[in-house]
Amino acid sequence: MDFLNKLTKKAKETYEGASKKTGELAKEAKLRMKMSENKSEINDLYQEIGKKVYEKHTLSEEINIKIDLEEECTKIDVLSAEIETCLNQIRELKDKKQCPKCFNEIDLNAKFCNHCGAKQEVEVAREVEVIQQDSTLEQAQNDINKNIEQKEVNEEIKTDMKVSKDETQSNNDESQNN
Ligand SMILES: [Zn+2]
Repeated sequence: MDFLNKLTKKAKETYEGASKKTGELAKEAKLRMKMSENKSEINDLYQEIGKKVYEKHTLSEEINIKIDLEEECTKIDVLSAEIETCLNQIRELKDKKQCPKCFNEIDLNAKFCNHCGAKQEVEVAREVEVIQQDSTLEQAQNDINKNIEQKEVNEEIKTDMKVSKDETQSNNDESQNN
């Protein structure tokens, strides 16, 4: 009996380990996909900037970054920040982090950087923050779903009202015809 229990426990652990790994790989693939989408959007924006600069050149006009290229530059800033976030999330999946001093990848729990020797802060508070962020995201998604459901119900009511109005209308027409 004890042996069977141990065996079941072992099998459960192996299964949980494997499915955790699969989940992490799926998450990483998703993050990498997001990163490559952002990179391609950034390249499109670079192209857009180049085109605008060349157009200014053909018109012999001065280019003003603040006025002419602000939108593209802001979009690139946002996309780049998202890529950075994805990279950090991938590092966390692998229990790694970036040394804040030399930016090399090191173990999440390392006390010192093995590249530059910088002392590392233990980031317990950040984990809590990430969890809270997730639940906020979940909450936002729930709210969106609720709104969509409510909208659908409203649409149905509207359609129903329209149908009954149409019916009333045609009934009126018939009675007028009679
Ligand atoms: Zn370092």
